[in-house]
Amino acid sequence: MRCAVGCGLIQRGVDIGYGIDTVRGNANHPVNHGMACSRGVSETADPDGEWLTRPLVRRDGELMKTTWDTALFEARRGLAAAMADDPGGVAVLGSGQQTNEAAYALGKLARGGIGTRYYDANTTLCMASAVTAYYDAFGSDAPPPTYEDIPEATGHVVWGANPSVAHPVMWRWITDSAADGDLIVVDPVRTETAEAADHHVAVDPGGDLTLARAVLAHVVETGRVDEAFVAEATTGFDDLCASLPDPAVAADRAGVAMNDVERIAAILDDDTLIYWGMGINQSVQGADTAGALIDCCLATGNLGPGSGPFSLTGQANSMGTRVCSSKGTWPGHRDFDDPAERAVVADAWEVPVDRLPDDTGPGPVGVVDAIDSGPVEAVYAVATNPVAGMPDATAVADRLADAFLVVQDAFRTETVEHADVVLPAATWGESDGTAINMERTVSRVRPASDLPRGVRTDLDIIRSLGGVLVEDLFDGPTDPAAVFDEFAALTAGTDADCSGISHDRLDEELAVRWPAPDAETSAGYRYTDDGDDWSFPTPSGRARFTARKGRALPEPPDESYPLTLTTAREADGYNTGVRSRDSPDDPGPLVGRVHPDTLADHDDAVEPNEADELHATVESRRGRAVARLTPDDAIPTGMVWLPIHHPATNELTHPATDPRSDEPNLKQCAVRLVSPASESVTPVFERERPPQHP
Ligand code: SF4
Repeated sequence: MRCAVGCGLIQRGVDIGYGIDTVRGNANHPVNHGMACSRGVSETADPDGEWLTRPLVRRDGELMKTTWDTALFEARRGLAAAMADDPGGVAVLGSGQQTNEAAYALGKLARGGIGTRYYDANTTLCMASAVTAYYDAFGSDAPPPTYEDIPEATGHVVWGANPSVAHPVMWRWITDSAADGDLIVVDPVRTETAEAADHHVAVDPGGDLTLARAVLAHVVETGRVDEAFVAEATTGFDDLCASLPDPAVAADRAGVAMNDVERIAAILDDDTLIYWGMGINQSVQGADTAGALIDCCLATGNLGPGSGPFSLTGQANSMGTRVCSSKGTWPGHRDFDDPAERAVVADAWEVPVDRLPDDTGPGPVGVVDAIDSGPVEAVYAVATNPVAGMPDATAVADRLADAFLVVQDAFRTETVEHADVVLPAATWGESDGTAINMERTVSRVRPASDLPRGVRTDLDIIRSLGGVLVEDLFDGPTDPAAVFDEFAALTAGTDADCSGISHDRLDEELAVRWPAPDAETSAGYRYTDDGDDWSFPTPSGRARFTARKGRALPEPPDESYPLTLTTAREADGYNTGVRSRDSPDDPGPLVGRVHPDTLADHDDAVEPNEADELHATVESRRGRAVARLTPDDAIPTGMVWLPIHHPATNELTHPATDPRSDEPNLKQCAVRLVSPASESVTPVFERERPPQHP
């Protein structure tokens, strides 16, 4: 499994030595019935990254090979010193690249062992805006629909997402269903997904919330509201109506024609799924925009089989981290602030309840900022690459270099270069456990290869380091099945009840969807049993319109920086690219896409090289990067498109975050093009360097 679609794959290890020989879709798996995409197969079988095979410690400025005992001793010493006076002295960064068992153990260590608020499980770089919107509307996280609703839908609206590239198997289901229905894609860029649509709405960058509210206003004006559903199952509709703009004015502000608004409103007359991705979530108004898309579903009664809001998750186990990792909620979505829930968790972990942090923390941008302006002195980063994956990446690298940094990863990443201790970990195909896909289905992951000597699983390392860092925290059974049982027991009776799931059940059934409170249940559509009786886990039992208006973008283009940078996925790329490029020493050329008219407008900055390839320096207020620029009329004029996988891209992006979800505004900032050879290029501002870590 390489993305959150969660396809079941059959992996066969090599006959001699380590490694995976062949990978193919599992025809018996209920999620994908044998389907798989080439990226998922090739990256599982033979990723390109530079493997870590031995623990490393920094000596005299250099990373040197060492033993596991020495590496764990050094890691413990640095982390223990940092948390001696304040649990907030240690920050922990996790990832959707871990099994549920490892994610659960890491959350237990961070929250129940160390007791730090400076912890994130990477969800905040990816899905936190959707999570916030789901809680606003339904009082509970995760999409109501499942994959089974895709063929049932008549209409499909893909908004700020490119599943043709990012979720290929799911995209096949969407296009199969849309062949007899209607597919609208909303995206500033004419993506591969937009190319396949019946209608492409090329909204202005940052115009999504305004457009969604124009659609809502037009739905109300034209009598498309499902009044029976709204009356029976929702609250807040009058407040929504009072807040709505004039649709034509809002359409104009979003950069679209009124005909586009009418098309989107019309598709909502029939059973329609609205899918969205990072183009919505990674914005200072991400939670509000996701909320407006859910409002569109509620207003038109698009809740129930074949319809509803369906956020598209990125990393393989990002849904797992939402359930297991104790980031925004306790395991099973237990309320972080509820004293009774905190007591249940502390009791299960056998730790004092007052050790649990009082709040969920500031998200990854705030965590790294706290190295400079807060208590954080040490960082434990597991299966994540913040130096390439976070906005304003140079500042992130500077700050991590000033902390005591323990990096646990399968591959040599940009973050490893700043580490004091490196712990080499197993990856997919080498680990035993479970993962949860974007539609709440729990599946087994199994090792197909022995581990190379010198490499240990995430769960093993977390328990070993946690065991010496916090006495008695991990005294229980150590195997993944027992850790899953501990997690699942803690979810009993919650909205995300996994207590009816076990490794044994998954070995038999292959996939079970939560909530699954007993060994017979695998859930379907949420909040209703038969499509008629609605019950939402909100105080009123009704779904809530959110009716939020968002806020200004942090950095619109201006006279000095007249272009908009956007970032997105490439077909064969994966996250920060550590699995799809040979080495962090050679990330390859940064290749951007720009409309030919934009290139013509900036011809003084764009220079051909000997091979006649066009180059320019892309510069923002935070950094600059030389890029090869490809003329591409799929990109709107005034925009520079760069891939998220290249480590230079996030040197340019803006670190502003959504104040409600803490998710960074990764999809939009202001840039300009200057000549790569120009000496006149001056630093746009002098970054004040944080003090060096003692
Ligand atoms: S769609 Fe995603 S989970 Fe399925 S094979 Fe491709 S990468 Fe793997």
